[in-house]
Amino acid sequence: MTLVSMKEMLLEAKKGGYAVGQFNINGLQWAQAILQAAEEERAPVILAASDRLVGYLGGYKVIATMTAELLEEMAITVPVALHLDHGVSVERCKKAIDAGFSSVMIDGSHYSINENIAMTREVVQYAKRFGVSVEAEVGTVGGMEDGLIGGIRYADPGECLRIVKETGIDALAAALGSVHGPYQGEPVLGFDEMKHISVLTDTPLVLHGGSGIPGHQIRRAIELGHAKINVNTECIQAWTTAVRKVLAADSQVYDPRTILTPGTEAILATVKSKMKEFGTSLKVNTPSIQKRMSV
Ligand code: 13P
Repeated sequence: MTLVSMKEMLLEAKKGGYAVGQFNINGLQWAQAILQAAEEERAPVILAASDRLVGYLGGYKVIATMTAELLEEMAITVPVALHLDHGVSVERCKKAIDAGFSSVMIDGSHYSINENIAMTREVVQYAKRFGVSVEAEVGTVGGMEDGLIGGIRYADPGECLRIVKETGIDALAAALGSVHGPYQGEPVLGFDEMKHISVLTDTPLVLHGGSGIPGHQIRRAIELGHAKINVNTECIQAWTTAVRKVLAADSQVYDPRTILTPGTEAILATVKSKMKEFGTSLKVNTPSIQKRMSV
């Protein structure tokens, strides 16, 4: 299986009333755990590298090559998109595409809407030539991500409609109260605005800051047009808890495999539970699964 764009995945998800999970990678073992989870759950998946982490992860080419090779090595059969999360500039999105990413987000949300549209249009024009999908953002997701802190700013419906109509994006992150990182108390998502924007734009919506949102709010967000949900913090927290436990239990331990394998297993378990929650499990119909299910 080669990397695919997320366009078809998201259209299918929207039609089917479920959402595809985007899980961010923070190293090789993260990619392995996420791919294994997808294969075991028979779920389409979006593996993402946040643009601000690309240097830490070894660069666009290393990330794209690693992911493509893992698909082969692990004999992955479910659809996998490799997505650039929060691409910071047109140039960097183009570099990711050239390196082999099958999907990119251009995050022009910190610019004026006219600049955001112009940047997004340029990325879409480039991406379309390679069959690469594009996500854009309107409004501001709150909280901290990769060292950047922002306040919540709700997406304006008129701006959402403009960016969809004037650029041809495949997915829209309309910020409506979600936060990157841990929430202080129960999240307050703008469901009325969500419904309005979803109907107005008729485009798959993306929920950033998917960690820590209670199940009933996730279900409502999916019902109201979200076809993609981004999760990073919950995987990081599960990894850290597992690794910390190993280190706390044995002050002499020094073998990286012994220390890190429980972390990888914790990511695997977290991703699998999110796939079940988002309704993505068993959405890939292969002859083998149909056979297994009919036995
Ligand atoms: P969390 O870290 O809050 O899960 O958000 C992830 C995200 O939205 C990545 O774009």
